[in-house]
Amino acid sequence: MLVLKNLSVYYGGIHALRGIDIEVADGKIVTLIGANGAGKSTMLNSITGLVKSSGDILWDGKNISGSDTKDIVASGLVLVPEGRHIFPNLTVYENLSLGAYFRKDSSRIKQDMERCFELFPRLKERIHQSGGTLSGGEQQMLAVGRGLLANPRLLMLDEPSLGLAPLVSKMIFDIIREINKNGTTVLLIEQNAHAALEIADYAYVLETGLITMRDTGKSLLNDDRVRKAYLGE
Ligand code: ATP
Repeated sequence: MLVLKNLSVYYGGIHALRGIDIEVADGKIVTLIGANGAGKSTMLNSITGLVKSSGDILWDGKNISGSDTKDIVASGLVLVPEGRHIFPNLTVYENLSLGAYFRKDSSRIKQDMERCFELFPRLKERIHQSGGTLSGGEQQMLAVGRGLLANPRLLMLDEPSLGLAPLVSKMIFDIIREINKNGTTVLLIEQNAHAALEIADYAYVLETGLITMRDTGKSLLNDDRVRKAYLGE
């Protein structure tokens, strides 16, 4: 579904991604784990056209490298960014509606809004509350919900558990699994390696801009090097 070939990014003299190859198969959960500064966000920002890269980004076989972010999102490749970036002065409903900004299928948008409230009843209860007054966990729910309103075929999540209490974080991972069961492919970037590898069909380890390991989530979860470097064992 999504194939990155020899993807490379420079920020001035910093070579942040050094020719990485990644594949995301239709219907799967794929995760990329790595330490701070490894280049994880850079990869997602390149896919969505927010950062300039070289190499190929093949989406359904078509090279979208250099395409407009607006067109990339409209084609179903949707990013939930690190740090949520919700609009604090807009209500929950308005924030969610902005996720559907480029869509014209209003009856489907309504259905997706209902579906979002089924996944996140907490958001429905707070539908008229301003985004900035939500708790950190609720803001993350809102960011994921807004992503879903864009009708993604591939939902990319950048550190969705960052700064959340363990129980809320677990809930977010459960929801990611649920979203995937409902037919959306997921590309997940996480520092919480354990939770990410547990739900991933396939996983990659990124170290200073290079992919150093790739295998099923289960195999990496049991790999000694991963356990030492990323699972604190
Ligand atoms: P984290 O988990 O801490 O968010 P990350 O794996 O997502 O880290 P990136 O944010 O992709 O890492 O950063 C990769 C490298 O590129 C880092 O060394 C960072 O300092 C550098 N970098 C990122 N964005 C820029 C930028 N706009 N200008 C210059 N350097 C940048």
